[in-house]
Amino acid sequence: MVSRVIPVEPFDLVVFGGTGDLARRKILPGLFRRFLAGQMPPEARVIGAARAAMDDAAYRAFAAEAIAETAGGGDGPAARAAFLERLGYVAVDAAGTLGWDELGRRLRPGVVRACYFSVAPALFGALAERLQAHSLAGPDTRIVVEKPFGHDRASARALNATLALHFGEGQIYRIDHYLGKETVQNLMAVRFANILFEPLWNARFVDHVQITVAETVGVAGRGAYYDQAGAMRDMVQNHLMQLICLIAMEPPHRFEPDAVRDEKLKVIRALDPLAPGDVVRGQYGAGAGVASYRADADNPASDTESFVAMRVRISNWRWKGTPFYLRTGKRLRARASEIAIAFREPPHAIFDQQEGWKENVLSIRLQPNEGINLRVMIKEPGPGGMRLTDVPLDMSFATALGANGADIPDAYERLIMDVIRGNQTLFMRGDEVEAAWAWTDPAIAAWQAAGDRPRPYDPGSSGPEDALMLMHRDGRRWRDIRE
Ligand code: NAP
Repeated sequence: MVSRVIPVEPFDLVVFGGTGDLARRKILPGLFRRFLAGQMPPEARVIGAARAAMDDAAYRAFAAEAIAETAGGGDGPAARAAFLERLGYVAVDAAGTLGWDELGRRLRPGVVRACYFSVAPALFGALAERLQAHSLAGPDTRIVVEKPFGHDRASARALNATLALHFGEGQIYRIDHYLGKETVQNLMAVRFANILFEPLWNARFVDHVQITVAETVGVAGRGAYYDQAGAMRDMVQNHLMQLICLIAMEPPHRFEPDAVRDEKLKVIRALDPLAPGDVVRGQYGAGAGVASYRADADNPASDTESFVAMRVRISNWRWKGTPFYLRTGKRLRARASEIAIAFREPPHAIFDQQEGWKENVLSIRLQPNEGINLRVMIKEPGPGGMRLTDVPLDMSFATALGANGADIPDAYERLIMDVIRGNQTLFMRGDEVEAAWAWTDPAIAAWQAAGDRPRPYDPGSSGPEDALMLMHRDGRRWRDIRE
C-alpha cells in the first residue's frame, strides 16, 4: 500500500538546540525522511540555532552525520545533498543577545514560521520572550515545546502563563511524541472508524486494560535529570496519561484539535485519586554487567523510582468498574510497549470443555513491530470433541502497510509536519497538561510524606514482585513483557 504524500506549505523551521541530542537523533533525520517522501517543498528551510560557533557548512556536516547514523539507507548522495542545501545555522543564545539580529535576517516573510524549542526547559520562557522582543514572531508563528512541561502543576502553570505572555494557545505545540506514533493514532482509527469495537468499549464488556511501556536501558547518561523526575514524572504524567485518554475518551464529534482535546481532558478529570495501595514503585539493582540505578544516577541514597505500576480507576459511566493497570520501567526484560484490552467472559458457557477458554484480548503494540492483534477463541482442529483454543488475528503494520518497517514514519516526522500544517490535534493543550499534573502531584506527595522506598528489582526482570501482586490480588495477571 503506497501512502499519499501531500507536500506542506513552504516553511522556515528554526531548531533551537539544533546541535543537541534530540536534533541529531530525531529532528534532523525525521525531516530528511519527510524530504525523501516528497513532503518538504523545495522552498523549505531549516535553521539550526545554538550557542556554539559554526557556519552553514559545519552544520550541514553535522546533519549529514546524524542522517547517516539513523536514516538506514535507501537514498542516494544526490538526495542527501539536496536536503542538506536546505539547512543553515545561526549561533544564537536563547538567554542572551548573541545572534538574534542575524537570525532575523535569515527568516523570510510569507512562509510558515515554526520554532522548535529543543533546549532545556529552563530556556523556554527566555526563548519565547526574545522571539517577540526581536519581532521574529507574528500571529501565525508556531512554537514547539519539548517535554518535560513542568515538574509539577505549579511549575507547569507558571510555564503556561509565561508562554501565554508571548503566544496564543493556538500557536503553542506541546509535544508528546507518543501521540505521533502510528499505532497510537490507529487506536483512534480502530475505535472510531469501525463499528465492531465501540459497542464493546465499556465496563460492561471490558474486564480491564493493561498498558506496559518497558525499556531495557538504564538511566546512565541522563541520571541527573532522571533522578529528579522518576518514572511517574518522566513517563506516567505525559505518555501513559495520553494513552489512557485515547483508550478511555468518548468519541469526539469530529477529529479536530479542540474536540479531541476536550474529550481527553474529561478523562483526566474523571481519574480517581491514587490510593497508596494502588501504586508500586521499584528501583533496579545491579546485575550481571550492569550497574544499579543508584550508580547510574550517581546518587547512592536515591529513592527515585525507575519503575512504577499502578491501578487506575476512571469514575464515569463508561468505565466505572474496569481498572486500568499501568506499568513502566527501565532495565526490564525487553523493550516492549503495548496496550491490551481484555474483554470479559461470555455470559454463559455452552461447551462442555471450557478449560481451554481464554479471554478475548485486543492488543496494540507500540514498539517494536507496531501492530494490532486480536485473540479469539476457535475450535481446536481435528476430531475428539469440541475443544477450544485461542488464536491470534494478527496485523503487523510493517507487513500490512509497507514493504518493511522503515515505511512507518517516526513520531517526530509526523508531528513536525503537523506543526507546519497548523494542526494541533496530536499536541497537548495547556489545561490538559495541568490536569495531568493535578492527578500525579498528590500521589507523589503522598509517597514522599510516607517515606515510601522503591522496591528493588533485578535488571532483566519484569519489575518488583509487589507489582505482580497488584494484579494477582485482583485475580488478574500481567501479560509477558516480550519483544
Ligand atoms: P542536549 O543534547 O543537551 O542539547 C541541548 C541543545 O541546546 C544544544 O544544541 C545546546 O547547544 C543548546 N543550548 C544550550 N543552551 C543554549 C542557549 N542558552 N541558547 C541556545 N542554545 C542552547 O539536549 P537534548 O537531549 O537535545 O534535549 C533538548 C530538549 O528536548 C530538552 O528539553 C529535553 O528535555 C527534550 N527531550 C529530549 C529527548 C532526547 O531524546 N534527547 C527526548 C525527549 C525530550 P550549545 O551548548 O552550543 O548552546
